[in-house]
Amino acid sequence: MARWLEVVLDVPVWQSFTYRAPEGQEGEDLTGKRVEVRFGSRVMIAFVTGTSDALPENFPLQPEAIKPILRVVDQEPLYGAREIALARWISAFYLCGEGEALSAMLPSGKKESETGGLTFEDTDFESGGIGLSDEQTAAVTGILDPSDSRPAYLWGVTGSGKTEVFLRAAERVIAAGKGVIYLVPEIALTHQVIESVTSRFGAAAAVLHSGLTGSKKLAEWMRIRRGEAKIVVGARSAVFAPLENLGLVIIDEEHDGSYKSGTTPRYHARQVAMRRCAEAKCPLVMGSATPSLEAWHQMQSGAIRTFRLTARLSGGAPPEVSIVSLGATEGAISPRLAGEIRAAKDDGRQSILFLNRRGFTHFFRCSTCGYELKCRNCSVPLTWHRSEGVMKCHYCGWQVKPPSSCPECGSLDVGYAGFGTEFIEDEVRRTFPDCSVQRVDTDTLTKKGELKKALDDFRAGKTDILLGTQMVAKGLNFPGVRLVGIALADTGLHMPDFRAAERTFALIVQVAGRAGRFFPDGRVIIHTWSPTNPAIVFASHSDVEGFYSWELEQRKELAFPPFSRLVRLVFRGKNAEATRDAAAGAAEIIAGNLAGSGELLGPAECPLAAISGNFRFHILLRGERLGPLQTAVRRFLTEYKPKISVYIEVDVDPVNLL
Ligand code: ADP
Ligand code: ZN
Ligand code: ZN
Repeated sequence: MARWLEVVLDVPVWQSFTYRAPEGQEGEDLTGKRVEVRFGSRVMIAFVTGTSDALPENFPLQPEAIKPILRVVDQEPLYGAREIALARWISAFYLCGEGEALSAMLPSGKKESETGGLTFEDTDFESGGIGLSDEQTAAVTGILDPSDSRPAYLWGVTGSGKTEVFLRAAERVIAAGKGVIYLVPEIALTHQVIESVTSRFGAAAAVLHSGLTGSKKLAEWMRIRRGEAKIVVGARSAVFAPLENLGLVIIDEEHDGSYKSGTTPRYHARQVAMRRCAEAKCPLVMGSATPSLEAWHQMQSGAIRTFRLTARLSGGAPPEVSIVSLGATEGAISPRLAGEIRAAKDDGRQSILFLNRRGFTHFFRCSTCGYELKCRNCSVPLTWHRSEGVMKCHYCGWQVKPPSSCPECGSLDVGYAGFGTEFIEDEVRRTFPDCSVQRVDTDTLTKKGELKKALDDFRAGKTDILLGTQMVAKGLNFPGVRLVGIALADTGLHMPDFRAAERTFALIVQVAGRAGRFFPDGRVIIHTWSPTNPAIVFASHSDVEGFYSWELEQRKELAFPPFSRLVRLVFRGKNAEATRDAAAGAAEIIAGNLAGSGELLGPAECPLAAISGNFRFHILLRGERLGPLQTAVRRFLTEYKPKISVYIEVDVDPVNLL
């Protein structure tokens, strides 16, 4: 008797395919295993999602015409029923193929990880013997309260003891025989958390992230599936860890951008975690000093329970934070900042300068009053396009000729502003020829070990000035540092992105929090062209509540999330005309599908108008509810005959609109 296998492939299609089980293996359940199949003219890996003895009614092919698979790849299944069901949900929610979802759960990484060499010595674990504070105790109890199924949020500054609460809650869940997923932002920067987890839980811990080699990751995955690991710590994709009997998911630094996938499926680990916890009927806890605005909004409404940690258990004092206006300054280093760097050097101390890697260099501003040209529809900053001589909105496509005087104050001192990171680096080297300077970011330090060496050198006091991007902010425990300068807080602020203020605020608060934790006499200097911008002013006082209520007002007024939901489609291709046409054609169809249940913005050129020779256009769907937007896009994708030359990226609840 023949056995039929339902398989899905890692391709953007909306269906499964039927193959025949190989001769002699008809009796075996191949569900959850990978197989090799001939697909068109190619040989591809496929995932078996189901088997049956009978073909469905109305099956279009005769049984003899159904091809057998070429071979079975796995000894043991990689995926269980739970993972297959989750992939189905991901496919429906994020509008991707089921095979794409299964593949994303277990991507075969290329890079060798720095954390790959961790050793697990003992299986016994005990909590380092610290007595919890009252706030911490209340949080642990509240998080695990079985009578309340709402997610919990642990809100407290750096050093307020969040990690300790997470670890205690994890201990209790594991002691009750259940499994824990502990998500951290980016593996290289959260070494300390991983170490605390692995040292506390020993062999019961597994580390899972996309930086592991394919074979290492697979080995950890199977260890988890077999129930040998009780707690899985890792970045975004660890949310898929195939734990039997899930008892708790922890999301550390919930606001972090790395929880959102930048490739298909563009899932958010927070959303997937909410789904998994609801399925498993287990608690979810998130934590940060600066919650995402979405989370904050739900904390306000009571959909998420808030537990506050108000004391700094690690000691230290808040740093002295000052805002320096760049209005009157030539170049990127103000006299005030230069003086502080010099003073730090003279006292044998060190300085860190934060640069924004993604600097948008060309926005229009008035040097007299700080007025900035924004889109009349979207209120995001317009971007200067030199070749066409216009300012453009990258959400809706609206454009305008730049005014020759300031519309606000009439000043003629208007123009395009912004610095690149190289510019700042040059200036620092020129201004402090006697200081040793090290720039640390993913562009300059590509080789494994280089980053670690640069940071070790700095920690050992061998470098005077560290120039770093956001990535350094999280691992900022350098006792020799006194001064932290944010070279240009505006670069984030003037990005054509409605989350710009939120990101800028979070970055400054995180940096200031770290500075206070590790240097008793810490100083933070914020350079800005917009010294009165609320994101910067609230951040300089670490006024989290003040900022969020202001920012929520803005979002409400402009109907951006959390007061609306978005779906973004990016069209990219080598030919600008064809790509633009595809976007325009799609916009028309989708607008028809929406039938008034949401609005459609664009098509417009993406802010990043071209990436490695591919032109990019996007359309943005916005509505009160997500469902109708998803339906409109799904209908378009299933009916649309894609042009070979244009690729479509679908992003549900996009975090970044660049
Ligand atoms: P966060 O995760 O909020 O940054 P941590 O949990 O890392 O904070 O705690 C910061 C520091 O305070 C750590 O060194 C930790 O060991 C210590 N700590 C945490 N809880 C307590 C406590 N109840 N009593 C004393 N020290 C604590
Ligand atoms: Zn002006
Ligand atoms: Zn606009």
